[in-house]
Amino acid sequence: MPFELAMGSEISRRQFYARAQTLLADLDEARNGMKHSCAIRLKKRIEKLETERDQLKAFAVEMINASFEGGSFDGGDIQDIGVKHGLLRIEQREDECGERCACREYGFPAECYRKTNLVLEDSHEQ
Ligand SMILES: [Zn+2]
Repeated sequence: MPFELAMGSEISRRQFYARAQTLLADLDEARNGMKHSCAIRLKKRIEKLETERDQLKAFAVEMINASFEGGSFDGGDIQDIGVKHGLLRIEQREDECGERCACREYGFPAECYRKTNLVLEDSHEQ
């Protein structure tokens, strides 16, 4: 019904306002739902970032403390600390992992130290 006609009668005017109120309430509900789901996603993202920060900090603290203790760390020691704090993971390999990796130098089966998303160069949004 054209707007002018709808406003011409009390009944259709009431129907128009009732419908408008319903639509506004629906819109409000949709907005609140969107805010809620955005808040949940944001909360999960913050929790993930805090976990990653804690892992990186724990790795850094252990490395710095080791340097103060005067020990001399080699690559294997650093890899073990990386595994301990989730920067690296050990993968049992029966063959080459197909990437530039030192595991092939030691023969197979081998333990291959793989970077996790925390230290992969192209994992900003993962
Ligand atoms: Zn490998």
